[in-house]
Amino acid sequence: MQSKLFINGDWVAASSGAMFDVVDPSDNSVVHQVARGGTEDIDAAVKAARAAFDNGPWPRMSGAERAIILRKMGDEIAARTDELARMEVLDNGKPLPEAVWDIEDTAGVFHFYADLAEQLDNDADEEVDLGTDGFTSKAVKEPVGVAGAIIPWNFPMLMASWKVAPALAAGCAMVLKPSEVTSLTALELGVIATKAGLPAGVLNIVTGFGPEAGQPLTEHPGVDKLAFTGSVPTGSRIMTTAAKDVKTVSLELGGKSPLVVFADTPISEAVEWIMFGIFWNQGEVCSATSRVLIEAPIYDAVIARLAEEAKKIKIGHGLEDGVLLGPLVNKSQHEKVLAAIAKGKSEGARVVSGGGIPAGFEQGCFVEPTILADAPLDSWVWNEEIFGPVVCVRPFDTEAEAIELANRSEYGLAAAVMSADTERAERVARAFRAGIVWINCSQPTFTQAPWGGYKKSGIGRELGVWGLNNYLETKQITTWDRSRPWGWYLKE
Ligand code: NAD
Repeated sequence: MQSKLFINGDWVAASSGAMFDVVDPSDNSVVHQVARGGTEDIDAAVKAARAAFDNGPWPRMSGAERAIILRKMGDEIAARTDELARMEVLDNGKPLPEAVWDIEDTAGVFHFYADLAEQLDNDADEEVDLGTDGFTSKAVKEPVGVAGAIIPWNFPMLMASWKVAPALAAGCAMVLKPSEVTSLTALELGVIATKAGLPAGVLNIVTGFGPEAGQPLTEHPGVDKLAFTGSVPTGSRIMTTAAKDVKTVSLELGGKSPLVVFADTPISEAVEWIMFGIFWNQGEVCSATSRVLIEAPIYDAVIARLAEEAKKIKIGHGLEDGVLLGPLVNKSQHEKVLAAIAKGKSEGARVVSGGGIPAGFEQGCFVEPTILADAPLDSWVWNEEIFGPVVCVRPFDTEAEAIELANRSEYGLAAAVMSADTERAERVARAFRAGIVWINCSQPTFTQAPWGGYKKSGIGRELGVWGLNNYLETKQITTWDRSRPWGWYLKE
């Protein structure tokens, strides 16, 4: 496991010499230490990226040449799937099969953007029809420059790949600041990049805390673009800081996503997707469908079955066979989620299942899968992101009411609808004010499809071609036909 910062192709200690703990949330034991990067380290990393971008080979290579290196990175990640997944379990707590999924997806993201890098060789220039004699014009795509990427802890390596792979495909150089809560797999990207032959300085990784390492990265004048995934308050602060230098910003923020279940949905299907929508990854998922609206005729039946099934979920260490719910990521998140449940109860929500620390799991950051029914519409628990295995359910009577309640939120990241009536499902899907909408499922995420939020859930889109465009500038090149006279000043 790496413990130093990756700057200009070298592994270096933090300039202060400081380190911080990596903690296994299943028992809160310290398993490793990593460098605590700060302002000087960020400055060195940005300068390395600046030099790599301004004078180095990476942005000047063809897309096909960059694709070779990106593909090698994807291959290496795939080859190390089991090892990286176990590292993710240790650091984040998630069950091993989910961590394996993450790493497989991470490799897939590198392979996908390798293909897009190659396509850029053909697609980078687009003729523009000016409709004016004598002028020809084209729009040319170029890398945006040095990108600063700041990521959260819920899918540590996957979230890194959503930024690193498209930025590198576009020809950018970058500085990645992983979450201080989960540094391990992001650091491995430095090892993987070196092995794949990525030129020094193109990717720099500085571990450390938000105010100490994240803030100086957002403030650094050598950064052209900031890409952030995390909470709304941090995103808002980053946008405010970026405004000073008018840096380009993309933000993937939080959510309180609705899942609307119509009564023509078979109960078992509804229960399966409600559970997947909130208990997968311990509910530490930005797009988790944490507000479930169920049509009145099946409300009681769905809740009863949900409660029954939630109690069967195997809780435990992520490496234990058959575990479907690991610990939350750390003590602070554990306390936040328990406090949210207590708040929900005090606001009048009815605990249908769970609601506390599971018996026998007091040593780690475990929370029972929790179902809260009938929280008031204006309550905190119904409206705010909990980021844990806690779902709020309420009944509805009409389609119009369901849409109105679903959209009554400051967030707009994701939404889902379940119905056997395909026309209705499509109608509701289009009525949602959210950037990601699922019909008859909740959560499956594909590298090819756009990802991002409306309203307070963010700005811009990641993944697919949209993710690549985040790291591209568009330049106009217009040419005048010199064989024609212009003669505005010189009347020759
Ligand atoms: P967070 O905002 O606390 O931290 C995210 C990152 O920002 C971390 O790396 C942190 O060190 C850094 N940071 C903190 N303060 C900073 C500052 N002042 N300047 C610069 N950087 C700073 O979020 P979190 O708790 O790590 O993650 C959970 C949040 O992320 C949830 O709200 C979740 O919904 C959101 N999220 C969104 C998506 C998405 O795609 N929309 C995906 C995953 C998580």
